[in-house]
Amino acid sequence: MGRRKHTALLPPDSPAAPYVSAAWHDGLTDKQRVFCEHYYRYRNGTQAYKFAFDVVKMTYDMCRQEGARLLALPHIQVALKERYKLGSAETGVDIAWLLNHFMTIAMADPRELIGLKVGCCRFCWGEGHGYQWREREYLEQLAKVEWEIVCARRDRQPIEGFRYPDLAGGLDYNATAPPHPSCPQ
Ligand SMILES: [Zn+2]
Repeated sequence: MGRRKHTALLPPDSPAAPYVSAAWHDGLTDKQRVFCEHYYRYRNGTQAYKFAFDVVKMTYDMCRQEGARLLALPHIQVALKERYKLGSAETGVDIAWLLNHFMTIAMADPRELIGLKVGCCRFCWGEGHGYQWREREYLEQLAKVEWEIVCARRDRQPIEGFRYPDLAGGLDYNATAPPHPSCPQ
């Protein structure tokens, strides 16, 4: 009987069936939605805040606090939970995408992989002198860890040991910038 009722509500072959439920971002402002989407991809509240909001006049610490404040809001937590449930299906981050991604890395220009000692190091201009990434590198590292987690799940191995790359230093690494005079490295 329960089955009949369910069928009446959601015809299994109806193309609209998977989209009957509310969107994950219902109740969020546009900026909050961008914040959540960025956080979902990069898992760093400070960088998500800087990406989604106008932060020209804000210090790094202010962004960090605002990012943490947003992440603690109940409706943001609900939206993120829903976003995680959707997972890669909605964003194309699936196994085929990951594989394609690694192909791209394999064919990277070798000139980019050598001769890095041109100017500043990774810690010179990173925020709080944290490790500073190029966006593509960061995405590659993130994809690599996600891939390892996918494999571990498939093999029923523990996933607690996997660590996502730390984005605290930001994504704006530019090897041709001059070294920072008080770089810790
Ligand atoms: Zn340095």
